[in-house]
Amino acid sequence: MKYDYLIVGSGLFGSVMAHELTKKGKKVKIIEKRNHIGGNVYCENIDDIAVHKYGAHIFHTNDKEVWDYVNSFVEFNRYTNSPIALSKGKVYNLPFNMNTFNQLWGVVTPLDAKNKIIEQSLELNNKTPDNLEEQAISLVGRDIFETLIKEYTEKQWGRECCDLPAFIIKRLPVRFTFDNNYFNDKYQGIPIGGYNGLITSLLSNIEVEMNVDYFDNKKYWDSIAKKVIYTGPIDKFFDYKFGALDYRSLQFEHETLNVDNFQGNAVVNYIDKKYAFTRIIEHKHFDFGKQDKTVITREYPKEYENGDEYYYPVNDSKNNQVYSKYKDLTSIDDKYLFGGRLAEYKYYDMHQVIRSALNLVKNEIK
Ligand code: FAD
Ligand code: UDP
Repeated sequence: MKYDYLIVGSGLFGSVMAHELTKKGKKVKIIEKRNHIGGNVYCENIDDIAVHKYGAHIFHTNDKEVWDYVNSFVEFNRYTNSPIALSKGKVYNLPFNMNTFNQLWGVVTPLDAKNKIIEQSLELNNKTPDNLEEQAISLVGRDIFETLIKEYTEKQWGRECCDLPAFIIKRLPVRFTFDNNYFNDKYQGIPIGGYNGLITSLLSNIEVEMNVDYFDNKKYWDSIAKKVIYTGPIDKFFDYKFGALDYRSLQFEHETLNVDNFQGNAVVNYIDKKYAFTRIIEHKHFDFGKQDKTVITREYPKEYENGDEYYYPVNDSKNNQVYSKYKDLTSIDDKYLFGGRLAEYKYYDMHQVIRSALNLVKNEIK
């Protein structure tokens, strides 16, 4: 066999695996079905602006080893994500913090904000939240749920908030300080010039073949390597044996505008259902750009249909149960290894994908 490892997918998971295995002396090849490397962190240069082609990507982590790891390949800027939300004609700060509480209720002290939330969460009668709606009300009260969460979430997931898992809303910090940083993590930023430099450095000595779908000739690809690392959707790998898992997909509408500053912020969330999109990204603000033009992207969520890209696993209990059956199959044949957002069916951020890949390499090369 020509290769020790064939890696299916050149996203962050596949790229970190390829880099680390090559460093350990293994012969590796990547195949990628898209016409570029990097998976969803890929950026395209349009009018000298690094456009995050698959949605806003902000790196944030508490994991120092992962932060040092990515910084050993590229330099990061000091970007701090502080999105704003538009709801019924008014602007609110995110994540939920003293600025938001002041804009909504006029309160100025943390004590008054806390009392307001306690008062509004009494409707739960101390019940442990077991869905996103209850979780949101217990964290921030009904007013914020109705003003900033309900409609956005139903657009994003195509499901009622009471049918979604609670953990999704726990991604967002709730803070009783006037601090609009969207993340609590110690380290945050964006690679200067976008993510392509990171992926290119990871893959600098690695053979990559693009525009190749593994499933078009699985037998052949399996025959050229001792092991296969698969980073695509797990249900597809097992030919939907236990049924198809649900995924949310997105449509991105990119537009170049002849203005230097369209919305004054990288991320503006559109809460109201009357807008079919959930957010508008203005990419130049990720890099403090001074270009004359600007590029914006509207994000339209949709249910995955055949031919779409897979973006978000829907980790409700129904899908998690199906996933666990697929997971049991992954250990049957040690020729195949699985990892990343789609193969592990986990709502992973970038740092978690890198951590998962570094752990798998450690396990693989003892
Ligand atoms: P992917 O990037 O999906 O890579 C998988 C690759 O495999 C793809 O390139 C795909 O084309 C290829 N592939 C699949 N099947 C096949 C096949 N059959 N044959 C050949 N190739 C195949 N994370 C953050 O930390 N911060 C953020 O701000 C952030 N924002 C996000 C915004 C959006 C809209 C989305 C969708 C995700 C965001 N993420 C963010 C998450 C981040 O994108 C992922 O954690 C990470 O990119 C996943 O890497 P991966 O390698 O697992 O998957
Ligand atoms: N969310 C919301 N209103 C907002 C922003 C987020 O209700 O203005 C909810 C929504 O359910 C979303 C979840 O919080 O899916 C997680 O938000 P995050 O920004 O982490 O989503 P991602 O960037 O991964 O799409």
